Formats: sequence, C-alpha cells, structure tokens
Amino acid sequence: MATNGWRQATIAISAGRGTRAPGDPMNVPIHLSSTYRAAEYGLDYGREKNAGWEAFEDAIGMLEGGKAVAFASGIAAIGSIFSGLRAGDAVVAPADAYSGTRRLLAMEAVRGVLDVRLVDFADRDAVSKACAGARLLWAESPSNPLLNVVDIADLAAIAHRAGADVAVDNTFATPLLQRPMELGADFVVHSATKLISGHSDILLGVAVGANPDRAESLRMQRTARGAIPGPLETYLALRGLRSLPARLDRAQATAKHLVSRLGRHPKVTRVRYPGLAGPDRAIARRQMAGLGTILSFEVSGGPAHADAICRNVQLIQHATSLGGPETLIERRARAAGEEMTPPALLRLSVGQEDVEDIWADLAEALDHDPDDRR
Ligand SMILES: *Cc1c(COP(=O)(O)O)cnc(C)c1O
Repeated sequence: MATNGWRQATIAISAGRGTRAPGDPMNVPIHLSSTYRAAEYGLDYGREKNAGWEAFEDAIGMLEGGKAVAFASGIAAIGSIFSGLRAGDAVVAPADAYSGTRRLLAMEAVRGVLDVRLVDFADRDAVSKACAGARLLWAESPSNPLLNVVDIADLAAIAHRAGADVAVDNTFATPLLQRPMELGADFVVHSATKLISGHSDILLGVAVGANPDRAESLRMQRTARGAIPGPLETYLALRGLRSLPARLDRAQATAKHLVSRLGRHPKVTRVRYPGLAGPDRAIARRQMAGLGTILSFEVSGGPAHADAICRNVQLIQHATSLGGPETLIERRARAAGEEMTPPALLRLSVGQEDVEDIWADLAEALDHDPDDRR
C-alpha cells in the first residue's frame, strides 16, 4: 500500500485496517483469546500480543512517526518509560506536569530509584542546568491544566547535548496537531483515554518509540509488568480515532469562540489557551497545526465563585477528564497534587455541542457569584 505522503487525517482514517484481501473485514475484529495454538518455537500468550492492539498501534505509530505500544492507561504508558530507566538515573520534568506524572515521579524518588528534578520549563537556563548528567527530559506541551507551551525542538537540543533522551506527553495536542518526533523527541506518550478514543468510555494509553529498539524496550516493560490494554479498549480507541480529525476541527473552532468571549467577560480575570499571549504565541504557531480543544480560565470571585459555576452549569457537565463529545468543566485545584494550579482556575474540555448553547450555559453560570452583593 502506498502510504507515503498521506496526510495525518488520511492516516487516522486508513491505517490499522489489517489485511486487505477481498472478503477481509474492514475492521480488525476483537480477539478474545488468552493463548494461541503453539508454534514450533516460542510461546504465544495473551500478555504478549493481540491483533487488535497491533491495529491500534500501527495507526498511532504511523501518525507519530515511530513504533507504538499500547498500555492499560495513559499513566501505565508513562510508567513504562520511567521503569525502563536504571536506578539512580536523573529525570528532568516540568513543575507543571500532569499531576499523575508528578505523583509517579515522586514515588520513584521516594523509593530512591530516580533522581527527579522538577523545574520551571519557562526558564531555559534552569532546564539546561538540570539536564547536566540527566538520563531523560520529560516535556508536556500544552500542559495540563495550565496550557503552557514549551519549545520542544529547543528542549530536545538541550537534552541531547547533555546526553539525555526526550519524552513528550502529547495528550492535549494529539498527533494531528503536533508531531514531537519531528522536533527531536525519542518517546511520545498519550492518554488515549482522552481525545484519541474521544468518547469518555474507556481508559487506555500508548507510548511510541522513535526507533525499533526504543519501542522494543517499551514492549518488554509491558509484557514483564503486565499493564496490558484490553482488546475491547484498543478496538474502541481505533474506532474513535476514525473521527478524531472531524471532532478536533469542530471542538477547536468552538474553543476559539469561547476563548474570545471569555476574554471579554467582566468576571473572567484570565484565559489560558495555547499561544494566546507572550512568547508561547510564536512557539505554538510554529510547532502546532492547531491550538487544541482545552482551555482554562480564572474567575473574579475566587474558588467559591468557581465552585458555584460548576454547580450551576446545566448543559456542561461537572466532571474530571477531557476530550469527550460532551463539554466538561472542573475546578482543578480541588484535586490532589495541584499546588501549582490557581485556586479559581476552571478547566474546560470543549465538546461537540453547538457553540451558542455552550456559551449561553457558561454565561448564565458566570453570573452566579455567591459573594456578589447586589
Ligand atoms: C489524563 C492524562 C494522563 C493520564 O492518563 P490516564 O489514561 O488517565 O492514565 C497523562 N497525561 C495527561 C496530559 C493527561 O491529561
């Protein structure tokens, strides 16, 4: 099959379809089998392989420009990279990384396994210094939930000069909007729970290695530690991937409208969205094909006001997670490990509803400030 030169949206629809003989199914079926009839050499066991995993992995690998390995969750995919490191290895990670990533790193530090160096990635000199003697640089762009953007190519150059590998959490952008391997990343990870599967119905992760050796080390971690995905999960994620280009286009257009309306609202003190202002703007426009479907904003009445908004929305759902068809809102600082997050920050995952209905709901809820004395 001549797949050279396919654009990302075409790959999302066409990759991972298995064999293509007349009469073959259009979709790789769900294989429910824990074992396979023995071959002359080797063991074929369900913890090692599944045709459905491979279909999903083919598609993600092609989108990211590497070789993908699916895991039970995003955090399991992230863990597979950390557990591939040696005892005593140093990891440089952003102070505003996803809370689950920071918790996992903190656990490895407490066990004395990893030397974890959390730094402000906006401070290029601090990153440079921390990279001395490090084995891995971890990046997340845009970050969850502050929507900070970092220059992946620049960070990768700094890390590689110091002899460190580079891993990027690409969950917020998806490979349709950002391809970290083209910018120098050695590993990419996703919470496929979010935009890739896209329907708030499964948990799944995927890690991608830039070359076969790196992918093989991820696969070995999966087999040895057992954080394998379910066959139904990879089927549903690949099914969700087919509509990712259309879902992204629509939610991104809605996000853009909401960003500009929130920015003009008297009770909104700050809106965060990739590339909105400052040096992030040029970086986001250079390394991303679009600015994404997640935004955060802060409100004038503090955390009580933010909580009231979550209680008062009708159409928008008050729930954690992101990337589904329904618009979700959450005051992130309620969760554990969110010391970096402003207390009145609301994260909004923009869904597929009509933009006017989302805005009407949000505008109405914004007026319910419990501290307002009118
Ligand atoms: C949700 C999330 C994860 C963790 O993924 P799970 O599928 O929940 O394990 C990792 N990184 C980012 C940026 C996320 O939003």
